[in-house]
Amino acid sequence: MVITNGIAPLTSAPSTISSLQPPPPPPQQQQTTPSSLPSVKIEDPLPYVSLKTGLCYDVRMRYHAKIVTNAYDYTDPHPEDPRRVYRIYKALAEAGLVDMKGASGAGHIGSKLMQHVPAREATREEVTLVHETKHWDFVERTATMTQDELVEETDNGDSVYFNNDSWFCAKLSCGGVIDTCKAVVRGDVKNAIAVVRPPGHHAEPYKPAGFCMFNNVAVASRVILKEFPDQVKKILILDWDIHHGNGTQRAFYNDPNVLYISLHRYDNGKFYPGGTFGNYDKVGEGEGEGFNVNIPWPCGGMGDGDYIYAFQKTVMPIAEEFGPDLVILSSGFDAAPGDELGECFVSPAAYGHMTHMLKSLAHGKLAVVLEGGYNLDSIATSALGVTKVLIGDAPMPLTNVYARPEAVQTVEKVSRTLARFWKCMKIGHKIHDLPEAPPVERLHDIIRKYQASQLFAHFSMTKLPIFRDRISRSFEDQVLCTPGFQSAKTVVVIVHDPPDVWTEPDPVTGQISLHETFVMDAEIKYIQWAHQKGYGVVDINAPAVFTDQEDEGYNVQAALQDLCLYVWDNYLDLSDARNFVFVGVGEACGGQVYLLGHREVRERVRAAIAIAGSKTLFPIVPIMDEFITDWYYKNSLVLTSSNHPMWDQSNGSKNPRKKYGNVQRTEYETMNELLIGKYSDVIAFAEEDIEESSSEEEREGGPDRKRLKNDDRSSNNNEDEWVDAVTPGSAPAAFL
Ligand SMILES: [Zn+2]
Repeated sequence: MVITNGIAPLTSAPSTISSLQPPPPPPQQQQTTPSSLPSVKIEDPLPYVSLKTGLCYDVRMRYHAKIVTNAYDYTDPHPEDPRRVYRIYKALAEAGLVDMKGASGAGHIGSKLMQHVPAREATREEVTLVHETKHWDFVERTATMTQDELVEETDNGDSVYFNNDSWFCAKLSCGGVIDTCKAVVRGDVKNAIAVVRPPGHHAEPYKPAGFCMFNNVAVASRVILKEFPDQVKKILILDWDIHHGNGTQRAFYNDPNVLYISLHRYDNGKFYPGGTFGNYDKVGEGEGEGFNVNIPWPCGGMGDGDYIYAFQKTVMPIAEEFGPDLVILSSGFDAAPGDELGECFVSPAAYGHMTHMLKSLAHGKLAVVLEGGYNLDSIATSALGVTKVLIGDAPMPLTNVYARPEAVQTVEKVSRTLARFWKCMKIGHKIHDLPEAPPVERLHDIIRKYQASQLFAHFSMTKLPIFRDRISRSFEDQVLCTPGFQSAKTVVVIVHDPPDVWTEPDPVTGQISLHETFVMDAEIKYIQWAHQKGYGVVDINAPAVFTDQEDEGYNVQAALQDLCLYVWDNYLDLSDARNFVFVGVGEACGGQVYLLGHREVRERVRAAIAIAGSKTLFPIVPIMDEFITDWYYKNSLVLTSSNHPMWDQSNGSKNPRKKYGNVQRTEYETMNELLIGKYSDVIAFAEEDIEESSSEEEREGGPDRKRLKNDDRSSNNNEDEWVDAVTPGSAPAAFL
């Protein structure tokens, strides 16, 4: 039996479980359109708007439920809760989209806006278009298993539960989705939403998984391609459930007729379903290469701006180039606020906007299919936002349209990867393979050579020899010093990332014009300051990658830590300097903080300045000196950009702990702005400490040489020997 609301069902199939039949329908309403025919006449000037939006909903899908085995199941029900579908139906009814008569959805479904698409059980023939027969046979067996067997299968399965009604509900859910898609393809409705469960997109061809038994969307796609070969040759499946639809991807991985696009949390392969199958480089295989698009978010907290950005930059251009005949939306609502599994913030307004964009494809033939989503309030309001737009309402205004850096970076990686397959993605992406050997030279190395020549020309700075096998050879040219710094009373040690380069790539080819490319090397201001003051300078550049192919396993932080200790042990600690000022810039601050924690530095290091920008903050680790954390907090100045992730309270970030030093948020966003904008503050901070230390020395009657007495290594120091090595021909102690 099939429930009708006075509108004859579009398809019908007998139920096998008569005891589950809902109550009889209410009295039939006046009917103006013969329901067995499409409600649009051929001469209708606006055939699309004259049609209703389909709604597939059947209360019997609530019968699939987790068997209660302990008290905990009552207090904390399984997230794939039978109430999910009802709560969505209720929200649609309360919003007036379907008539309220029989709010349970058992009887009257439909309204002047929506048309009921009855659910019916999918057949073995349909389901096995995607799933192996042993998979079908297994789910069938659950209908007659004992309770103990069901509990055992639940415990052994991959995040899926069974009762004796699961089999029926899985078929009903799948059949409902098939008929929803058919109704859209035939033009019985203009578009539709299937509010069904159990969901489907994790179900693999060979096994149930992730609350899913049959892959509803995959089965429906196969049925449509088979039964409507003339009308539907290409299907786009857009999956915005917060989890990757591994089952759907698998079903069409070799198929160029089905474009699968998924936006999901990936978290470096740690987010369910886990592994690398959901990464951006999984683009399909064989003929299907390029027809699989993963947009893998690296973390939670993604919101409207991020999703809209991904849609505008990647999803819609590729979808338009593909030109589908039907769009099926795997619509989980677990990226909505309040979902404990998803931890994201996609609003009903954003769901509406994305639906609006998808409606522009395939002559509006869009079938929305419920997947996950576990906060009952969130899925209800999200589904309402989608359904209103399906019917024809305008999407609600968006309040947050800014994409986070993580989203922009992810979308860029996806676009670059797909530029091999889609013309629209080639724009701004130059596809080429670099030769491994010369004449190719990394711009970083060229810039460092230029820096070295400038530092020599202005400040007579030259290479500081690094004789140590363990240190990567890529560092050889990266440590420069002023002549005679070892005799200077004060030495400024600058440990920095390579300078920022600003450019405007050609918008079509992605190529860079050297005339429009600028190196912004604000660090030179700091060297200039030290030079004018007569301080010695040691400048350490930390390349993030290096070009020496023989030196494999390079890790910038490990190499930098090693190098900083080396420079301290072999040069700085043995020098005459009574004051050291450290200035770290960018990720390179890691090497400096490591050194401060691993050597006894408190007596001579006056200030540790870290200009971190938006880069990592490094905690000091007290290896040599238990008081170093307090010392670091008092003597450091750690400057971050205004947009540093640590200030984003929505991520659950707290104020930094003492071990990160005296961290301050600035108003600047880029490293270069920060270096220039905070220049005066930084040198004032450094000079204050240097002066303090000098006046202390005067009070104590001369330079503090206690350290030298306690450290016999210094007596082995032959200054002349390494002065010659550093600055041949120059007078020592030039800056004292
Ligand atoms: Zn999900």
